[in-house]
Amino acid sequence: MKISEDIAKVLMAGMKICPYCKKRINENATVCPYCQKNVPLPKPKFEEPKSKEEMEKDARFDMGCTIVVAALFIIGFALFYLIGEGIIDL
Ligand SMILES: [Zn+2]
Repeated sequence: MKISEDIAKVLMAGMKICPYCKKRINENATVCPYCQKNVPLPKPKFEEPKSKEEMEKDARFDMGCTIVVAALFIIGFALFYLIGEGIIDL
């Protein structure tokens, strides 16, 4: 059913559904050609750019994750080594 899904996507590209008569109309149409009602324009798709503060917060979060992962890796490796050497007997 992959092909029909692709066709549906192509058919839907640049189109929207009239909220009044549910017919498919041009995405940029402000008046439905079928029922002559005013239809809302599509919402802009771009996201608001992140503020500098938010980006810094994200960077700090990434840094924290990296440190935690690195610490877990080192602890795991140390345990593996100590057990392997017979220093720790579980
Ligand atoms: Zn309509």
